[in-house]
Amino acid sequence: MTYDISVVWFRRDLRCFDHAALHAALKQSRRVHCAFVFDREILGGLPRRNDRRVEFIWLCVRELQEELARHGGGLQVLHGCAREEIPALAVRLKADAVFTNHDYEPAAVERDAAVGAALAREGRAFVTCKDQVIFEKDEVLTQDGRPFSVFTPYKNAWLKRLDGFFMQAYPVEKYFDRLAPPAGHEMPALQDIGFRPTNLSELGIPPGMSGARKLFANFKKRMADYHERRDFPALKGPSYLSVHLRFGTISIRALAREAWQAADRGAAVWLSELIWRDFYFMILHHHPRGVAARAFHPVYDALKFPNDENLFRAWCEARTGYPLVDAAMRQLNQTGYMHNRLRMVVASFLVKDLHVDWRWGEKYFADELNDFDLAANNGGWQWAASTGCDAQPYFRIFNPVTQSQKFDAEGKFIRKYVPELKDCDKKFIHAPWLMSAAQQAQAGVVIGRDYPAPVVDHAVARGVTLELYARAKGG
Ligand code: FAD
Repeated sequence: MTYDISVVWFRRDLRCFDHAALHAALKQSRRVHCAFVFDREILGGLPRRNDRRVEFIWLCVRELQEELARHGGGLQVLHGCAREEIPALAVRLKADAVFTNHDYEPAAVERDAAVGAALAREGRAFVTCKDQVIFEKDEVLTQDGRPFSVFTPYKNAWLKRLDGFFMQAYPVEKYFDRLAPPAGHEMPALQDIGFRPTNLSELGIPPGMSGARKLFANFKKRMADYHERRDFPALKGPSYLSVHLRFGTISIRALAREAWQAADRGAAVWLSELIWRDFYFMILHHHPRGVAARAFHPVYDALKFPNDENLFRAWCEARTGYPLVDAAMRQLNQTGYMHNRLRMVVASFLVKDLHVDWRWGEKYFADELNDFDLAANNGGWQWAASTGCDAQPYFRIFNPVTQSQKFDAEGKFIRKYVPELKDCDKKFIHAPWLMSAAQQAQAGVVIGRDYPAPVVDHAVARGVTLELYARAKGG
């Protein structure tokens, strides 16, 4: 036994099974306390007091506390600045070590360095573990030992390196008798940490380990068809697990194992998505500054976006006049989720049709997405803006009407979120401004009054984009 008393600090890993840091702490310590901090530094930066993510986390933390209690343990839930609370807790508990899982975001890396230094000053250890990815940092490199910047060769090397070992669960439950009993502290209410309940329960987004289990059980039955259904927003195609992966209520090892073992086409394509997730964390680790504010390819920092505020507001408020874009933005605004195909469509539309800086869209998504994750969000935006590490070429510009015809042919998704157009013929629902006055009357909608006329002409906007990018590249 290396340590007498340890603390496990939970962050974006809100589960008590197959958990690297909890396992390491239990294995190496006589007695283990568990803690979670509602961090004022993070909460203070959120734009609204009714933030679905905070409520989601609060519910996950409550379930984690109950679950640890079932196994004889406790979870101290604190509200303060983690960089002060954690070293202070270690002093109070006379802990020899604090265990936690890696977080790759630059602000978290800096915070963890400060916590580690504070603990070291008092002679306490700070032990950190890989948990939220299969491969991290330098574990998958090119043959000459450099980080990859293109996805497909990274994926091939990732798959070559993979074997059962990397997907094995950490058997936390073997050591539950080392959990320290609950300290008797009450968990602060959502209101105590300054937040209000949201529409989370109405949306049917199940929180916690139990919620993630339920979603995954449902997805397992659909995984074999994933590759055929995942691009159509009106279908139940994807797993909807992103918010759970974000907050670690499910283990990435378990998901990768299931996909790997299923070994059919759908599972292989889904495993690729999990590899994209590892890829972007790896990129974030190697390029923390580039990811934070600059284009991955510096040449694109010269892009001069006109940044029309009115067009940006129209995009945020789902008033662009392009039905698929508006339906997608309403899905985001009403639920905090947006289908992956639609994230690509609206991101491309903001940058290449409205000529607004991709960082504005990135920030809007960061404020609104339940599953917001710096690595994947930045990766997705730079992909769409063609500024990223493995982005689509700048001259590839999604046509919002043909995307709509292809991926929502019947207009089912549009009708759900844009009821103004619910009686439009499927021939017109993708471009309703093409209806004559009589056709509009028949569909019960007047374009320009009940639903906006398009804020830009796609063909014209496309030409402007090509010029913008050519100029940035010095062409
Ligand atoms: P599934 O299709 O079931 O995929 C399973 C899991 O794989 C996802 O939960 C996610 O963890 C991971 N994944 C899937 N696609 C990607 C991808 N392209 N990059 C990285 N990981 C991926 N994903 C986020 O988790 N957080 C974000 O903030 C985010 N922002 C995005 C912004 C843009 C502009 C784009 C184009 C994509 C973004 N994505 C983001 C990736 C992707 O859209 C979501 O992960 C996915 O839609 C979540 O739904 P799901 O869980 O049903 O996905």
